[in-house]
Amino acid sequence: METMRLTLWEGFAHDQGRFLFNELNQDHVLGASMVLVGSYYGACLSTVGRTRLFIDPDIDETDDLHGWYADDGYVKKHISWSQILANSISEMEMVFNAKRIKLNQFSAAHNYFRVLVKVLSIDSSMSIWYESCARHLRRADMCVECDPSFSRPRYRINIKIGDATNTMSVTLFGQYAEMIIGCPISSIQAMTDNEFGDYFLEEYLSERLMNTFTFILHVPEIGNDDIIVASVLQVRWEEEFYYLKREMRGQSN
Ligand SMILES: [Zn+2]
Repeated sequence: METMRLTLWEGFAHDQGRFLFNELNQDHVLGASMVLVGSYYGACLSTVGRTRLFIDPDIDETDDLHGWYADDGYVKKHISWSQILANSISEMEMVFNAKRIKLNQFSAAHNYFRVLVKVLSIDSSMSIWYESCARHLRRADMCVECDPSFSRPRYRINIKIGDATNTMSVTLFGQYAEMIIGCPISSIQAMTDNEFGDYFLEEYLSERLMNTFTFILHVPEIGNDDIIVASVLQVRWEEEFYYLKREMRGQSN
């Protein structure tokens, strides 16, 4: 069996993605068109704004795939193994259902919170990326298990975020940091690979400030002050609209 990764972003993750997660043991067939083809350990696919996703589309291939699923024991085993991901599913549910608050309402008493914040500063006094080992995302030179020749650069940035009520410093890694920075590390490397590199980087980062994002914040355990950024999302303004409407009615629950 060959597999390929398809990453669902934003609305596709909320809608079809959540549905498919909850029905992993059902033999749904997913059809997709207008997806972005990228490479990450081989070819992989991502949704973009124009992507169309069809669950169990009414075409012959759907019947073929249903038949293959029903007859192939290995496929069934593989898919039931995927169900072990159920833990991360319930975590995803918590992320999606995170209560929308203002920053000054943040407390460790609840698990996940959703805030709407601006990026106030990006710390560039230290490198904004590091060489990461392939499997554990440790510093490549600190990992004794991974082959250093498979290491790759990974974002790690310290930023300050804020809303009208408070500010907060958080550390972001990988794809979430990339959303804030606005380009892949390779572009930053190309930009800074000259004698004016530091200057260009400062200029570029200053243009990335004051952008607005939705952050999902999480305190892993009581008594631990470390705030984890569980997710960074593009703002869904229709959600914000309903939040504001509730706020105005004085029913912030
Ligand atoms: Zn490693």
